[in-house]
Amino acid sequence: MPFHGLESVIMTNFVKLLQQQITKHLSKTDISNKDLQAFLKSINDTYKKLDHSLTLSAEELFQTNQEIQAIFQAIPDQLLHLDKTGKIITYKSGSGSHHYFSTEKLINKSIVEITSREISHQFISAIEDVISNRRTVLFEFVEIYNKKTCYYEVRMMLVKSDQVIAIIRDISEKKLVEDQMAYMAYHDSLTGLPNNHLFRDRVTHCIASAKRNNTKLAVMFLDLDRFKLINDTLGHSTGDKLLQATAERLQNCIRSSDSIALNSNAPINPSIARLGGDEFIILLESIVDIKVISRIAERMVNEINQPIYIGQQEVFTSSSIGIALYPDDGKDVDTLLKNADAAMYYAKDQGRNNFQYYTQSMNEAAAQQLILGNNLRKALSNNEFHIYYQPQVSVITGQVIGLEALVRWQHPEKGFISPALFIPLAEETGQIQAIGEWILRQACLQGAKWIKQGFKPLIISVNLSAKQLRQSNLNKMIKNILTETEMPARYLGIELTESAIILEPDMALDRLNKIKSLGIKLSLDDFGTGYSSLSYLKRFPIDTLKIDQAFIKDVKNDPEDAALVKAIIAMGHGMGMDIIAEGVELQEQLEFLGANACDAIQGYLFSKPLPANEIEPLLPRPVFY
Ligand code: C2E
Ligand code: CA
Ligand code: CA
Repeated sequence: MPFHGLESVIMTNFVKLLQQQITKHLSKTDISNKDLQAFLKSINDTYKKLDHSLTLSAEELFQTNQEIQAIFQAIPDQLLHLDKTGKIITYKSGSGSHHYFSTEKLINKSIVEITSREISHQFISAIEDVISNRRTVLFEFVEIYNKKTCYYEVRMMLVKSDQVIAIIRDISEKKLVEDQMAYMAYHDSLTGLPNNHLFRDRVTHCIASAKRNNTKLAVMFLDLDRFKLINDTLGHSTGDKLLQATAERLQNCIRSSDSIALNSNAPINPSIARLGGDEFIILLESIVDIKVISRIAERMVNEINQPIYIGQQEVFTSSSIGIALYPDDGKDVDTLLKNADAAMYYAKDQGRNNFQYYTQSMNEAAAQQLILGNNLRKALSNNEFHIYYQPQVSVITGQVIGLEALVRWQHPEKGFISPALFIPLAEETGQIQAIGEWILRQACLQGAKWIKQGFKPLIISVNLSAKQLRQSNLNKMIKNILTETEMPARYLGIELTESAIILEPDMALDRLNKIKSLGIKLSLDDFGTGYSSLSYLKRFPIDTLKIDQAFIKDVKNDPEDAALVKAIIAMGHGMGMDIIAEGVELQEQLEFLGANACDAIQGYLFSKPLPANEIEPLLPRPVFY
């Protein structure tokens, strides 16, 4: 019976031992009886050993074989035993979800016969690699069954000098999970748009090709205007839906932008990503004609500006877009994004709902703002703020009837900085609360002091910014300051702009009613610059209208301005309000206002804003003189 496997190894060893023994004994010249006996004994011993090991090994072998069989059956993978030409010697069909090779009659068939040219080519070259380099080779292939893409992984290793085993594993599910994870890592879950990571990769890639092809590309930074307000007032789920709708609208815009691009004969391959919050970025590639960018940006601004229904709710939005170009405005992703962002802020500054191209001065301005914002933080504690007072004068009597408190910032290096510049900055950086409170306290302290000194009591008006109006503790803060400074409420005035009120009218009405109930006078500042009608403002408890200086400037030469000023005075009076004209610099302006029944004026004609001690000589004489 021929020996196999382990048995043949043991047999070979046995023959070797016999040979050694025979050589050892036969090499002696005289072989004694004793020697012969010892020789026979050693042969006998060896034989016994062999017998023993043979019995054990057969058992072991049987067991091992069974174990291997069990393991083989349990493996979900398919196994092919192939020769060097790719012919199948044996195979095992796996227990896995999907087998690549059908289990029928594979033996003696070539891999070339049973699979596509492309896949068999992968197999043949792997076999060559495994045999010639005596190493394990790993490769993957894809096959589509009934429109379903299946992925397989093949691990091929050497089993004999010219034969290999290929383990074929179905990795479709693993691939699916991997793909899902990759998708999640590179997409925004709310809108399904690519996220920041994917977008940056794309821009980097596009920059490289723009460089090669000498073309331009545009990065657009889009931010929804007042999204926070919508989120806060209508709720987060409406906010989320608005973001989804915005993503869809933008996609529609760039889809239809293909036709725009066609006119300029250049594919612009637009892509959109969501950066987070209400910020979106749009990339336009291969730009030859810059006008295309403006057309797309304009389309986006218009589209977003259309009212939209979220459930039953009609929501109005607008957007501001900043645009940076490669290579003009930046040569890498970071610079392009930073500059597009700066341009977007500039678009917001220009009144929102528009787009702007980046210019170098934007960043310089932004850097200046940053420095100024930091300086502003120390300005209060360094006593750099001062209050100036500007008289409001009765047109009829020529007497000072009130004073407007105007803050001044004396910067240690830059000198005087206009409140028109730093008040918006203080609002943006959240410092307005502390600064505003300080101003109010100073003005009340001064007012109370003048009254105590015996000056005829006057209304001292303090400007309140839009952000301050939103402060929930505003009423309490005002009340506390009045008590603390002993300033009678009836001599305090508050000036508010129209825009501060109409942004959130219900909230404003509630706050204004509370302020009014303390006995404080309310003025509507810069009137005429907003878009609301007087009848709309009727429901607010306003005592005084201040006509913006823009209308006073040309009132003598511009008939339109003249007509408007007359109308405001008439309508304001009709609603029981007093009218103050701002920025009166010339005698002829005063005459026009007097002729049209304006109550009071404020302007350089009478006096510039001045520090408290310099304003005193202009105040009506103390009552007891
Ligand atoms: P505003 O409330 O409209 O203040 C009137 C501005 O017109 C003041 O500028 C004043 O100096 C200026 N002005 C007065 N008369 C004339 C004139 O005859 N001709 C011209 N050309 N200008 C005149 P100012 O002090 O630079 O303040 C600018 C703006 O900054 C103010 O406009 C107000 O909106 C804001 N502001 C000033 N002080 C405060 C403050 O204490 N708190 C807040 N929240 N805002 C303030
Ligand atoms: Ca004012
Ligand atoms: Ca004003």
